Amino acid sequence: MEESIYLMHTYNRFNIEMESGQGCYLKDTNGKEYLDLTSGIGVNCLGHNHPVLVDAIQKQVATLMECSNLYYSKPMADAAKKLVEYTGLSKVFFSNSGAEANEGMIKLARKYSYDKYGAGRDVIITLKQSFHGRTITTLKATGQDKFHQYYFPFTEGFDYAAANDIEDLKKVANEKTCAVMVELIQGESGVVPLDKEYVKAVEEFCHSKDILILVDEVQTGIGHTGTLFCFEQYNVLPDIVTTAKALGGGVPIGAVITGDKCKDTFGPGDHGSTFGGNPLSCKAADTVLSIVTEHGFLDHVKVVGAALKTGIENIHSDKIKEVRGIGLMLGIVVDPDKRADYVQAMMDKGLLTLTAGKDAIRLLPPLTLSLKEVDEALSIMKEVFE
Ligand SMILES: *Cc1c(COP(=O)(O)O)cnc(C)c1O
Repeated sequence: MEESIYLMHTYNRFNIEMESGQGCYLKDTNGKEYLDLTSGIGVNCLGHNHPVLVDAIQKQVATLMECSNLYYSKPMADAAKKLVEYTGLSKVFFSNSGAEANEGMIKLARKYSYDKYGAGRDVIITLKQSFHGRTITTLKATGQDKFHQYYFPFTEGFDYAAANDIEDLKKVANEKTCAVMVELIQGESGVVPLDKEYVKAVEEFCHSKDILILVDEVQTGIGHTGTLFCFEQYNVLPDIVTTAKALGGGVPIGAVITGDKCKDTFGPGDHGSTFGGNPLSCKAADTVLSIVTEHGFLDHVKVVGAALKTGIENIHSDKIKEVRGIGLMLGIVVDPDKRADYVQAMMDKGLLTLTAGKDAIRLLPPLTLSLKEVDEALSIMKEVFE
C-alpha cells in the first residue's frame, strides 16, 4: 500500500483499502464486501451512510461548520440538552475525542477537590487493566504497565486498584484520593464487565468520603450495551461521565457530562478546546442521540445483542471458551495464539471483527445490525470455529 510509505506505523494495518460503506457493510477497493462488526471501533453506531445522519451533516456543512466557543450555536445546545435530560446529570463540555474528554474529566475532578479541600487531595484511583486514552495523562490513568513506557515523565497523581475487589480499593484510597475512575465494561482489555455489587460498593464507599465517581463511557456509551449509557444498568449515578466513540456516528466528538457537584467547578478560562462543540460535530451528535433514543431503538439493540451472544454460545466448538459483554459489545474468548488466524479466516470470508486484550475477539457492530445480518455473521463464525 502506498499509504505505508507516508504514514507512521502506529497501527498494524491490514493490507486492505476500504472504499465505501453502506449500512452494516464495507466495500474495499477490490470490490470485496464485508459484514462490519467493528463499526470503526464502536464509532459508526448507525452503520455507514445512514440517510438521516448524512442529510443532517450535509445541511449543517452548508449552514455553519464552526464559529468558536465565543458564541452559542443551536446544534451545541440541542446535543447538550439531550445528554443532560437523558442522563439526569447537569452540564456538558464538548471535546473532540475520548482521551480529550477524559483529560477534561480529570481536570474537573481535581479542581473540584482543590476548590473544596485545598492543594494535595488530587490522586485519582483507576482500575488495573483499564484503558483511558493515549495522551500523556490518560496513558498514566490507564492501569496497565505496558502503557507506561518511553514517554517519561508521565503525569503524577494516579493509583491503581484491582477491578472487582472493593477491599483493594479501600486499601489504596487515602486522604489524598479525590476520585475513582472506571470503565463499567473494560473494553480494550478484553470486554470485561465489572460486577454490579462491586460498582454499588464503590459508589457507597466514594459517597461516604466525597470521593468523585468518574465513569469512562467512551466505548460503552451511546447505546452499545442496550441502554444509552451503561451506568443505567449498574444503577449508579456517576458524578462525571465521559463519552465519545459513537457519539457523532462517525464524526469526531467527545463529551464530559457532570452532575450537580461539579456543575460550576469550571469557570471562564478554566478549560477549553478550539474545535470542541463545533456546530458540525454537534449536529451529528444531536442527530445520533435523536435516533438512538427513538422509541424501540435500544430495545432492538438488546434483542439483536442477545441473539448474537446466544448464537455464538451455541456454536459447537471448544475453540470458543467464553462469550463476555452486554448488548452489542461482546468479546469471544479464544486461544491467544490462534486469535489472529481466526480473525483473518473470518475476514477472508467477509466478516470483520476486532481484537481486545490478550485473548478476546471483540465485536462492536453498528447498532442497526439486523437479525438477518446476525445469522450471516453466525454462519461465517460456524465455518471458522466448528
Ligand atoms: C477508545 C477509548 C478511549 C480513547 O478515546 P480516543 O477517542 O481514541 O481518544 C478512552 N477510553 C475508553 C474506555 C476507550 O474505549
